[in-house]
Amino acid sequence: MLLVHKYGGTSVGSLERIENVASRVSKAREEGHDLVVVVSAMSGETNKLIEYAHHFTPNPAKQEMDMLLSSGERVTAALLSIALQAKGHDAVAMTGRQAGIVTDTSHTYARIETIDPTAMQNAIKQGKIVIVAGFQGVNKEGNVTTLGRGGSDLSAVAIAGALSADACEIYSDVDGIYTTDPRIEPKAKKLDIISYDEMLEMASLGAKVLQNRSVELAKKLNIKLYAKSSFSDNNGTLITKESANMEEVLVSGVVLDKNQARVTLRNVSDKPGIAAEIFTKLAKENINVDMIIQNVGIDGATHLGFTVAQNELERAKKVIESFDHDIKGMDFDENICKVSVVGVGMRSHAGVAAQAFSTLASSNINIEMIATSEIKVSMVINEKYGELATRMLHEAYGLDN
Ligand code: ADP
Ligand code: ASP
Ligand code: MG
Repeated sequence: MLLVHKYGGTSVGSLERIENVASRVSKAREEGHDLVVVVSAMSGETNKLIEYAHHFTPNPAKQEMDMLLSSGERVTAALLSIALQAKGHDAVAMTGRQAGIVTDTSHTYARIETIDPTAMQNAIKQGKIVIVAGFQGVNKEGNVTTLGRGGSDLSAVAIAGALSADACEIYSDVDGIYTTDPRIEPKAKKLDIISYDEMLEMASLGAKVLQNRSVELAKKLNIKLYAKSSFSDNNGTLITKESANMEEVLVSGVVLDKNQARVTLRNVSDKPGIAAEIFTKLAKENINVDMIIQNVGIDGATHLGFTVAQNELERAKKVIESFDHDIKGMDFDENICKVSVVGVGMRSHAGVAAQAFSTLASSNINIEMIATSEIKVSMVINEKYGELATRMLHEAYGLDN
């Protein structure tokens, strides 16, 4: 079998842990598998590099940031390859460019356009274990790019697709996908299997265990994706196509996202095209917007509210301030969070949203915004009640162990 493994920051967070990964890869190799191993930077490394740049300016050039941040993953790729060679294996470390990953030109948030797998295939044919630095590629101009935070998951899935690998296994410090973040609710249960769509919602709603773009790509390419732990030999969770019996479960998971902020725009000129203008400008800056609510317009003006990631709020503010002629007032609130319940079973069952609202009401938690889709209900509440609400919902839908 050809397997793609990906080891995240915690799994390669020290030399001992890199040694542990080398032993695991070595074991898979001795079982007879061909292997491509994608690695993240050592935990904390990417944040440290960002701080280094911010020592000089709050707005460093994005091209230089990519040059800087891509170095973290190169360090671990080289060290893991060296560790494997020391164990007597034939291994080779590659950067994103060497692995043939070509992206578009949007620095720090690039999209993978193509992968030329020839170099990886040749190395595999020569019996080598291929180690690839995650989170990076190269654009048409030959400059290094990075794929957005958590982007090594995306590197792994894209490589699995380009090589038609038998499976892509993402290793972290948890042994799979749980009904909610086990750090918030110790009663959370590990799921054996979850659909791409549910996982995509959970990832997009803030469960950082898998990067959302990686799940989207795995779904598109129908890749057998596993979430496993690098610290145990437990089975992990399979992320796969939806099957009929999955709908029997009403809610598969509860997600808390504390990295949220709300923007409220008051007395926005109520004219055609204004929303398009505001949100196009935000999109151009790669600011993801969620939970948009527009009130009924009165006297030619309306109110508009939406949420953004807290760490993108400053950039969002700048964009919005450029609309001062059309917006009469604006508020920004960082003391909010988003709690969501996700499940494909909602498609065929009524009353899921109502149950979520009553659960929060029973603890006197005020719901400030609501958004729903076929398979999720999201609620914005005061940040201080986030963890309590997560545990209450987890219990209400029968997810506690
Ligand atoms: P890595 O650094 O290996 O990429 P991450 O830190 O990105 O790993 O993801 C693993 C973390 O995701 C876990 O430590 C866990 O706290 C968190 N997490 C959030 N939601 C969930 C969930 N539903 N199931 C499992 N882990 C979750
Ligand atoms: N090192 C990058 C980050 O911290 C990419 C990754 O770990 O997937 O976001
Ligand atoms: Mg991650």
